Amino acid sequence: HINDCFDAFDLLHRTSGQRIIFCMGQAGLISRIIAKKLGSMVTFAKLDDKNATAPGQLTIARLKKLYRYNDINSETELYGIIASPVAHSLSPDIHNTCFAAKKLNKLYLPLLLEGGSEQFERFLGAVTIRNWLDFRGFSVTIPHKENAINYIRKKKDFIEPVAERVGAVNTIVSNEAGLKAYNTDYQGALDAIAEKMKITADDFADMPIAVIGAGGVARAIIAGLSDAGAKIKIYNRTVEKARLLAAEFNADYAPLDDLQNIEAKLVINCTSIGMSPNVDATVLPAEYIKKDMVVFDTVYNPVQTLLLKQAKEAAAVTIDGVSMFVNQACAQFKLFTGSDADAKLIRKTISHCLKTD
Ligand code: NAP
Repeated sequence: HINDCFDAFDLLHRTSGQRIIFCMGQAGLISRIIAKKLGSMVTFAKLDDKNATAPGQLTIARLKKLYRYNDINSETELYGIIASPVAHSLSPDIHNTCFAAKKLNKLYLPLLLEGGSEQFERFLGAVTIRNWLDFRGFSVTIPHKENAINYIRKKKDFIEPVAERVGAVNTIVSNEAGLKAYNTDYQGALDAIAEKMKITADDFADMPIAVIGAGGVARAIIAGLSDAGAKIKIYNRTVEKARLLAAEFNADYAPLDDLQNIEAKLVINCTSIGMSPNVDATVLPAEYIKKDMVVFDTVYNPVQTLLLKQAKEAAAVTIDGVSMFVNQACAQFKLFTGSDADAKLIRKTISHCLKTD
């Protein structure tokens, strides 16, 4: 477990001289990188995927290029994404590429945190009492967004008001004053819509908007849109979930079948329908798409989902999930560093990782 890495870190911190200390397995992967910061003489990496001798080994190329192993020193500040699973996450590629572009002595790690709220609390507790590890910020994703907000509430640290309304945080910043928690998902989505529709936040007031889905992403977007005064109707497979969400945010709700009567200026797919490998699926049959609609699909893999392709064929305006992803990553980068990220570089990195353009 990732929480077992702290024994190895403590040993490196307490001792001096020629030591080689790191942890095995997927959960130990970060220790193979952090070992350098804490003065371990050697780490171990594989030549390529074929030549791995154990799980949790990075290739030498990735260790040197993405994690800039040769530049890591005792001053390097640490960031990472807390998730389970974490191997598929694009965030290490995005943030390390942005840190490197700005020549920042910062490193972003995949933090495989298995378990529930207890393990989450142990991890953040272990990190915060070890100032010398220099952890400065975290992205948080499935299944820990609610664990994160509960932890910050318990510690009575700062939570951004919209994150409190969403009931989940996806970004934590850590400094001497304590922890600060944010939700950049809703802002990322609202910015993507506003950019494409060439409108400001005020223009969402009274806009008829159909949100399809009632999970975590739907909730974040609905909280943001409801703050802005939009007229929201939630469509979901499990109608009871739509009903509860609608009651909380003063919205309307309906089953998916009612999409045949859809009346909306903006339609947002917040389900996973259409996501790779099920790329031939769509949540909204083509015949219901009208040309004066704006269609936003939060799914970003593939970038051009069937929903977006059919919306384009119907001459509707389309917004892809990568736009939201880029915006939320930019907002996180700003919280982590205080400076603006290069949005084009982030989009390029995502396209490269997904092998699409
Ligand atoms: P979630 O909490 O698990 O919610 C999933 C939603 O999809 C629920 O409303 C669920 O309906 C619905 N759903 C799933 N399979 C379905 C099916 N076969 N038929 C009908 N409805 C189905 O997931 P989430 O965290 O909200 O993420 C949703 C999607 O958002 C992800 O798949 C991802 O593609 C996208 N996303 C995008 C970004 C970005 O930055 N662009 C970031 C995060 C996620 P029930 O309530 O009936 O189960």
